Amino acid sequence: MRILVTGGAGFIGSHVVEAYLAESHEVRVVDNLSTGRRAHVPRAATLHEVDVHAREMESIFADFRPEVVNHLAAQASVKVSTGDPVHDLEVNGGGTARVSALCLAHGVKKLIYASSGGTVYGDPMELPVPETHPIAPTSPYGTSKYVGELYLQLAHRTGGLDYTILRYGNAFGPRQDPFGEAGVCAIFANLMLKGEPCTIDGDGEQRKDYLYVGDIARANVLALTKGAGLSINIGTGRGTSVNEIHAALQKATGDATPPRFGPPRPGDVRNFWLTTALAKDALGWEATVSLEDGLQRTVDALRA
Ligand code: NAD
Repeated sequence: MRILVTGGAGFIGSHVVEAYLAESHEVRVVDNLSTGRRAHVPRAATLHEVDVHAREMESIFADFRPEVVNHLAAQASVKVSTGDPVHDLEVNGGGTARVSALCLAHGVKKLIYASSGGTVYGDPMELPVPETHPIAPTSPYGTSKYVGELYLQLAHRTGGLDYTILRYGNAFGPRQDPFGEAGVCAIFANLMLKGEPCTIDGDGEQRKDYLYVGDIARANVLALTKGAGLSINIGTGRGTSVNEIHAALQKATGDATPPRFGPPRPGDVRNFWLTTALAKDALGWEATVSLEDGLQRTVDALRA
């Protein structure tokens, strides 16, 4: 299959590109390298260093004639979205509107979209959070990611574009930026390898749905042919606390520095994890990499 991956130089996108190449698909990447890195893109994939809003997108679609587009390019920081909600909407909402329109204009068969299970639902009314939970984001980022979902549905209704929306939990794994504001696994692993103490926000008992990035990539492979017209949670079905992550990373790195405890993050949802039944039924997918294995791979990659 010819597959165009936007955001393929980013953390998750580069793993999706690798997984597609491993299945012998022909892959091109569109990425403006705002947070992504050229070195993350495997040699076997062609990288177009282009913004999804740029004019060149027309010729890339016309020349490559992708059968599937996987749209991961995004402004992916909640903090940045709060500081500049208009920019966030332009990149995430506007970018997805643009990519959906290009898919319709160029006869793309399917659009796969990276949405955010951790932010589109807002404060959970039940746990695990099902796909039927009310959409009530508490950040500009969660709002703009959901706006993107609406554009896929619109393209389906008006132009028959097939789509699958994957709502990921909290991804971790190799190539996650250890200097970002989020991504506690990469941040802590990096500090431990430098022998510096980690600061845990609050009491560390807050629990989120941490998911190994290779498992996310596999869901994106299955979504090439399954999950049509669905919004699907991609999570583990269980919450892992920050204290558990800290302890597992100490085991993986050999670090023994006690953590510091800081104030809780304002506005942070305390407990959050996603249902897994629809992913099993519709995609035949479930997370397979344990927290310990995934964190060990993360540490090994940082060491290398
Ligand atoms: P990332 O920042 O590493 O990847 C985003 C990529 O998009 C980067 O390579 C960046 O350079 C590129 N990009 C940004 N704006 C662009 C534009 N206008 N045109 C072209 N390229 C552009 O972030 P990530 O964590 O890998 O996230 C990938 C996707 O998954 C995003 O859509 C994000 O919203 C979604 N997501 C991530 C998580 C997570 O835990 N990391 C959870 C849920 C959903």
